[in-house]
Amino acid sequence: MGCEAALEATALNLPEGPLRRCSGCGQLLSAVDEARYQLTMQAFNAPDFNKPPPREVERRRLVARRRLKTVSQLLKKPAADTRVVDIGCSRGQFVGYASDAGYLAEGVEPAPEIAAAARKLGLNVRTGLLEEQRYADATFDAASLFEVVEHLREPLPLLRECARILKPGGVLMISTGNAASWTVATMGARWDYFHIEKDGGHVSFFNLRSIALLARRAGFAVERIETARVKFHEKSDVSGAAYTLGKIAAELLNLPARLAGRGHDMLAYLRRK
Ligand SMILES: [Zn+2]
Repeated sequence: MGCEAALEATALNLPEGPLRRCSGCGQLLSAVDEARYQLTMQAFNAPDFNKPPPREVERRRLVARRRLKTVSQLLKKPAADTRVVDIGCSRGQFVGYASDAGYLAEGVEPAPEIAAAARKLGLNVRTGLLEEQRYADATFDAASLFEVVEHLREPLPLLRECARILKPGGVLMISTGNAASWTVATMGARWDYFHIEKDGGHVSFFNLRSIALLARRAGFAVERIETARVKFHEKSDVSGAAYTLGKIAAELLNLPARLAGRGHDMLAYLRRK
């Protein structure tokens, strides 16, 4: 996050070595080597990657609508006047939902096969990294980075590019995992999210403090950070009965986790200064 603080070892042991923690902000960093990282990132370029089953499509639409509503409330602007870009947009699902809801929506996606699949659906999606698009300063009212920043060892340049292409007062949404969650407190290194073999390309793990620090260093103010959901087992770890019990306990703790900022899904709304 640009802390220039020492990295210390943790007891979170993964196959590639223990996660290291920034003594400044608590960010956790993977010890995986570059070759392994690149290999696991290739999963994202398969044409069917991230293709949700039909029942999941409706749930994701509702999530997208809720997020867009918050953005509109923060911007105090109608959807039809709001230009939004989803960075790392994958198959363009959010771009499609936003367009359906009346926003001027487009996307950028580095994986060429997936970006092409999104265009085939009639969506305005460019191939490449954000930095390669050469958008003019202050082009957008809103931008989103959904499940992107955990793939980057150095997120600051991307965040600064987001600040540059947003209008002053524009809103950036970032979703990522929360390593300071009750999920991590109980599961530790058993959390699938830490495992690069299970969640391709995950190398950097945030908490509320580190994401706020990153935001400020990139020229944003924090409007709000929400967290949600806890779990205590991965399905593959335990017997059916233990998994069910853990799931019930997790359901009961959903609301307290949300209130305490200890859920493992994190969503930040940032405003460009
Ligand atoms: Zn740090």
